[in-house]
Order: sequence, then C-alpha cells, then structure tokens
Amino acid sequence: MNFAIIGATGNVGRKTIEVLEKSKIKVKKLFLVASKRSAGKNIKFKRKKIKVEALEKYNFGKARITFFAAGKTIAKKWAPIAAKKTIVIDNSSFFRMQKNIPLIVPEVNSSAIKNFKKTNIIANPNCSTAQLVVVLKPLHNKFKIKRVVLSTYQAVSGAGKAPMDELFTQTKKCLTGKKSISKNFTKQIAFNVIPHIDKFTKNGYTKEELKIEKETKKIIDKNINITATCVRVPVRTSHSESVNIEFKKSFSLKQIRHLLNNSSACKVVDQQRDGGYITPVEAEGSNFTYVSRIRKDYSNKKTLNLWIVSDNLLKGAALNTVQIAELLIKKYIK
Ligand code: NAP
Repeated sequence: MNFAIIGATGNVGRKTIEVLEKSKIKVKKLFLVASKRSAGKNIKFKRKKIKVEALEKYNFGKARITFFAAGKTIAKKWAPIAAKKTIVIDNSSFFRMQKNIPLIVPEVNSSAIKNFKKTNIIANPNCSTAQLVVVLKPLHNKFKIKRVVLSTYQAVSGAGKAPMDELFTQTKKCLTGKKSISKNFTKQIAFNVIPHIDKFTKNGYTKEELKIEKETKKIIDKNINITATCVRVPVRTSHSESVNIEFKKSFSLKQIRHLLNNSSACKVVDQQRDGGYITPVEAEGSNFTYVSRIRKDYSNKKTLNLWIVSDNLLKGAALNTVQIAELLIKKYIK
C-alpha cells in the first residue's frame, strides 16, 4: 500500500516517518509533501532518499492513506480535496469535533472508526487528550468518572519545530547574558513556564484547555465533567499531566494499578521513593503512556491523584495516527 505525509518536514511529519519505518505496515511507496520551501529536499525512509514534493503540485491519488501533519489551515483547505482520492488521517484540530468525523485513539474507541467512509477523514486528538484518555478509559469502565481536574506541563515540541528551536536558542542566549526576543511564545520560555497555550476564549479558558475537555467527552463519555489548565514548560519532548479524578464508585489503589498495568497503552512506574516516578526526559521515544504518583486524594471521597507522562510526538501524534492506519488495514480496507 502507498502512503503519503503532508507536512513531512515538521515535528510530527518527521516522527511519522520514523514510526512508519518501525511499524509492521508494508509500505510500498511513501510520498513526502511539504511547502514550496522544502520542495526538492531529500529525506531518508528505510535507507532510501525520498524527494519532498510541494503540496500544490502533489497528486493525492498516489497514496491509499495520507497523514496530514501541516496544521489546521492546510487541513481545512486540502483535506477535503485529498479525501476524494485517499483516506486522510489528520493531526490538526480542524475536524476533531465535527459530528461525522471519527476522533480515534485505537486502544480507547476503535469501533468509532467504522463510519469513516462518510467523509474519508479521520481525526487524531490533541496530544494532551491522547495520553489522558488511555489512562481514563479503563478507570471509567470500572468506577465511572464523575469529574477530572487537570493541569498540563506541555513540552515545546508540541507547538512545532520553530518554537522548539526557540527554546534552544533562547536558553543559550540567557546563559551567555545576551538579550533574546520571544517570537513563538508570548513570554520568555527558557527558565520559565507560561500558563497559556492556544488562543484565549471569552470564558477565560484557552482553546487548548477546551480541546482537552471536548475531545475527552467525544472519545470516552459526554457525561465526564472536566476542567483543565494548560501550561507550556521548557521541556523539549513529552507532556506531563497532574490529574485529579473523582469517581462515582469506590476504588482501591490495588485495583487502579491492576487496571492500568493491564492496559496495552500504559505502564505504571510508581515506586513511591526518590526517583521512583517518570519524568518527560525518560518518556521521550517511548510508545507508552506512563503513570506515576498514584495516590488517594484524602481531601475528597472516591478521588484519585495521578501523574501522567507521554511522548507528545508519539502517542500524542505520529504513533496514534499510524495505529489508526493499522486499524484501518486490519479491519476496514484492503
Ligand atoms: P511543524 O513542526 O511546524 O511542521 C509543520 C509542517 O507543515 C512542515 O512540514 C511544513 O513544511 C508544513 N507546512 C507549513 N505550511 C505549509 C504549506 N503552506 N503547504 C504545505 N506544507 C506546509 O508542526 P507540527 O508540530 O509537526 O504540527 C503539525 C500538526 O500536528 C499541527 O496541526 C499540530 O497541531 C498537530 N499536532 C502536533 C502535535 C505535537 O506534539 N507537535 C501533537 C498532536 C497534533 P515546511 O517545512 O516546508 O514549512
């Protein structure tokens, strides 16, 4: 089967190439597409060089499945055109909340993909949502979640390649006492944290915070109450989340650990001693979503505290889209 990646030179696009290389999917041909700026550049896939094509000149009919990793403006304009000739799996936020578009995390709601043929477009969730729902789902199945209170600590790679580069150059400048301007963030990101991701909305929440709420409801259950605060931190890769979960039913910590340990997407690392937990640096490059600091919230009945860490470019983006492609190939297309 032939595949294509739109936005192949970006953070998610390059990670998708890596994940495809390691996956069991048999890729006959891979087409790499980006802006005119990158056209003609060579990128390696399985030791072969592939020439990047400009989006405007690319023929979508060449690939059976096309990963879009070029942002929502490109997705809005080009995905419907592409979907006439190829199945689109889109990383952007543009289609996620549209009723007739499946929003998929294969370990959580794989059956929701069945109607993809109506539009030929499947949406990939926000990176912070993906790692949250793989943890919430098995717990919700057993104890019914009433409310989630969440704070994120999001890595700069989640904002794209240019913001990631800004952290490196700004850190160097700060260390050498030079002045540096913030181009990709509203404030200095080096040696700082910024409580603001995506645009502000009228109710004081940012769009990122509302995405997590709405996407979690669409993927798991509309009756889960959820409130989020999203924070950008000077970490290269992997998002962390401090999560407080109130259940309808009583639980034991043993049951929680058992459920999470038996989930194919999760790994519990919770030794409750110095260093016995996961940090973003350790999660980078791993397909797992890690859960640490599992403890009861003694300030409220039937409530749990967790620390969740996952590579935002993998489960939050490239890995999840390739898993969606694997699901399509296994069950829905030939
Ligand atoms: P990025 O690093 O900024 O990469 C953007 C890509 O889009 C580049 O390949 C760029 O090509 C291409 N592009 C930009 N303008 C274009 C145009 N006019 N025509 C064709 N291609 C164009 O961004 P990213 O972090 O990979 O994010 C990509 C998408 O994934 C976004 O929608 C983002 O919200 C979503 N997402 C990201 C993450 C994450 O953790 N990073 C997680 C989930 C979802 P050039 O190099 O030629 O400019």
